[in-house]
Amino acid sequence: RTVYVNGEFVPEADAKVSVFDRGFLFADGVYEVTSVLGGKILDFAGHAARLERSLAELDMPMPMGADELLDIHRKLVADNGLDDGLIYLQITRGAADRDFAYPDAQTPQTVVLFTQEKPGLADAPMAKQGMKIISIPDERWGRRDIKTVQLLYPSMGKMMAKAAGAHDAWMVEDGHVTEGTSNNAYIVKDGTIITRHLGNEILHGITRAAVLRFAREAQMRVEERSFTLEEAAAADEAFITSASTFVMPVVELDGAPIGDGTPGPVAARLREIYLDESRKAAV
Ligand code: PLP
Repeated sequence: RTVYVNGEFVPEADAKVSVFDRGFLFADGVYEVTSVLGGKILDFAGHAARLERSLAELDMPMPMGADELLDIHRKLVADNGLDDGLIYLQITRGAADRDFAYPDAQTPQTVVLFTQEKPGLADAPMAKQGMKIISIPDERWGRRDIKTVQLLYPSMGKMMAKAAGAHDAWMVEDGHVTEGTSNNAYIVKDGTIITRHLGNEILHGITRAAVLRFAREAQMRVEERSFTLEEAAAADEAFITSASTFVMPVVELDGAPIGDGTPGPVAARLREIYLDESRKAAV
């Protein structure tokens, strides 16, 4: 694989980052994951805008403009012959002698991008089967709106799900679902799509924004508010969204079926609309 590191496109074996990198020592960095279908990048503008926001919240500048960033994405797609897959981007505050305080603002940031091949990404069997979810307490920090590389608790959550024979976990705080370990969470009740409102408690999903826009354009009812685990258990259907899963139905919560225990029609319709529309707009 060819990867990008600090201005250069190199074979992955030659890519190097300092042991003093603050991403490594302090999780002092942010990331984005963008999907590629048929060699084209989905929702690029949304991901670039969120990246800039995450950086700004941590007093870091964009190391380059969105156009240059897009060129790097495209070159990686071309060099790696990527058809269906993901592009991962990470920017950290750079390498400096270890100190909690931020280093001098002139310290060069570390910028890394790599691709992951995912053949048939849009035809994942899970879309037909549906996911099994468990609930776990949300024990992350309070600024989940910033897409930092501090992902240990979500990793622990995935392991808890795996140990329980499930595919993923929804995190719960004060009795309300915040989001999935790496996705936004939704329920559908009497035709209304319900998903948590934006705030510091969840990541502002780029797929979420697109899916809610498409739902409203299709005259579907949307409520952006928090919902409880009890509401989720009594919902007609449930689903998640993320750049890597698009819209994925959820059929089981903590061992009990949601609705009739099969993927629901609202999730199926939104998945179809999202894939159609974002493919059309892909760059
Ligand atoms: N919530 C969390 C915690 C995530 O990690 C992600 C994606 O990685 C999402 C939501 C979904 O965001 P997006 O649709 O931008 O991929």
